[in-house]
Amino acid sequence: MREDILQASRLIREAHLVVALTGAGVSVESGIPPFRGKGGLWERLDPMEFAHIDAFLRNPARVWDILVREMKDIVDRALPNSAHLALARLEKMGDLAAVITQNIDGLHQAAGNRDVIEFHGSFARQRCMKCGKIVPTHLVSLKSLPPRCECGGILRPDCVFFGEAIPLEALTRSQELSSNCDVMLVIGTSAEVQPAASMPRIAKYAGARIIEINTEPTPLTASYSDLWLKGRAGEVLESLLSSL
Ligand code: NAD
Ligand code: ZN
Repeated sequence: MREDILQASRLIREAHLVVALTGAGVSVESGIPPFRGKGGLWERLDPMEFAHIDAFLRNPARVWDILVREMKDIVDRALPNSAHLALARLEKMGDLAAVITQNIDGLHQAAGNRDVIEFHGSFARQRCMKCGKIVPTHLVSLKSLPPRCECGGILRPDCVFFGEAIPLEALTRSQELSSNCDVMLVIGTSAEVQPAASMPRIAKYAGARIIEINTEPTPLTASYSDLWLKGRAGEVLESLLSSL
């Protein structure tokens, strides 16, 4: 067993409150590409032109056609991978209090985690802009765009577009958990999108240990992380589980 994994498992066993912050890297093994970096969506599409709320309001049919349709295809088919399943298992074992996720794919809940804070909302749901009704994304037909609710209102992803605020409850709960945890697992996130990226910093200043799991170093690695478990989220979490 890797020494760094044994150290992480010791920290988790001694902790009273363990929280995870997850990002797109956790879902890569489910076939959902990250947005940033090589092969990412933002290499092909300008986020300000497609993922900004103003772009959606200006021309919802175009954003549905180019961005949302593609995401729906990917998210409708995706299944939880070994990283999601390991986090669900950690919660069941009583070793993980909550998952703060930046992901919008709904895969933590699908894996069985019960306390999931959706920092950027969810793409697995669509919301009517007129009456507020929520519809599961996989039930939405794309025959005519933008898709509409029974009431005639336009359906929009129930996630946070650029230019929109983080849901207040998600933000305050995340800040609270970050200030109170003893260990924060920071998994598969580039830690560059604010304000999510400030959660490990809040945790660190409040005295928590930061355990990062990522294939690459991030801006946190050198100055905030106590441990960097280098590797793919699924493999690292599976060995962490077996060491507990
Ligand atoms: P990001 O794309 O900025 O960074 C992904 C991180 O994951 C990188 O640091 C990369 O090194 C790491 N990584 C890649 N493969 C990995 C693996 N197998 N195991 C462990 N780490 C791996 O992602 P972000 O920090 O989450 O920010 C992107 C934003 O875009 C999020 O806020 C989210 O809302 C959205 N997004 C969501 C999804 C999703 O729901 N699955 C996918 C893409 C983007
Ligand atoms: Zn409606």
